[in-house]
Amino acid sequence: MKISSILEGTFKLDGGAMFGVVPRKLWNKLNPSDEQNLCTWALRCLLVEEGNTRLLIDSGMGDKQDERFFSHYEPQGEGLIAALGGKGYRPEDITDVLLTHLHFDHCGGTIRRKGDAFEAVFPNARIWVDRRQWEWAVYPNAREKASFLTENILPIQELGLLNFLPEDENSPWPWMKLFRCFGHTESMVLPVIDAPSGKLVFCADLFPSVHHIPMAWVMGYDMRPLETLEDKRRFFEKAVQEKWTLFFEHDPLNECAVLENTEKGIRAGKGMQLVEAGF
Ligand SMILES: [Zn+2]
Repeated sequence: MKISSILEGTFKLDGGAMFGVVPRKLWNKLNPSDEQNLCTWALRCLLVEEGNTRLLIDSGMGDKQDERFFSHYEPQGEGLIAALGGKGYRPEDITDVLLTHLHFDHCGGTIRRKGDAFEAVFPNARIWVDRRQWEWAVYPNAREKASFLTENILPIQELGLLNFLPEDENSPWPWMKLFRCFGHTESMVLPVIDAPSGKLVFCADLFPSVHHIPMAWVMGYDMRPLETLEDKRRFFEKAVQEKWTLFFEHDPLNECAVLENTEKGIRAGKGMQLVEAGF
């Protein structure tokens, strides 16, 4: 099994929204904001190659929106296709794309514009989505509407690429289990990869960065913050027991960390790169 970290680039999000009830005085030391209160975050995907499968987990922001939209997020970097190329993969090599959920910064790179229509960025890939998340995103609530963009979502189905993940903890692959979360959005899927060197979990928006491990550090974006606490509790139970390594999609510096049981509660150990973590 070969696992690669794919850094599409960075973007900016409001620090207050990213850290919820945590005061600026605390989070600004960890991820300093600019004069607009925006912090820099990574857009980081994961590529797992095993046998004939080349599975991409999440696909970043993509480029389908207008200048005004991107001016809010200030994306920087080489982009997903170039980042995959840097690791030796072409778009046509990808056999499967798993989307943890359908917020724009997780699924935008799956579909692109072609004239007035849309086409698949990965022409040979099946797209995998949780069924409840799909139904939730297609008829979005007013609070989450700005994150669920029609042009990112509906073409997946219209182009015949949509596949629903199994509804239990199993995935379509024997080397991956699914951990579901219900606080950030409805039924977000965290893939837990059973690699020869240990278990690696793609944390999506449960733990966007290494700094979101403590219980109260929950994003302001979350739909059901009390459910996020329950998601974290269930996660910690399994992650500590099975010694999961955490992989962060949005942490600007740290790709990975492992959990430590401290007197203050569960905390992250030192941030690491994927290779340092043994993957
Ligand atoms: Zn999200």
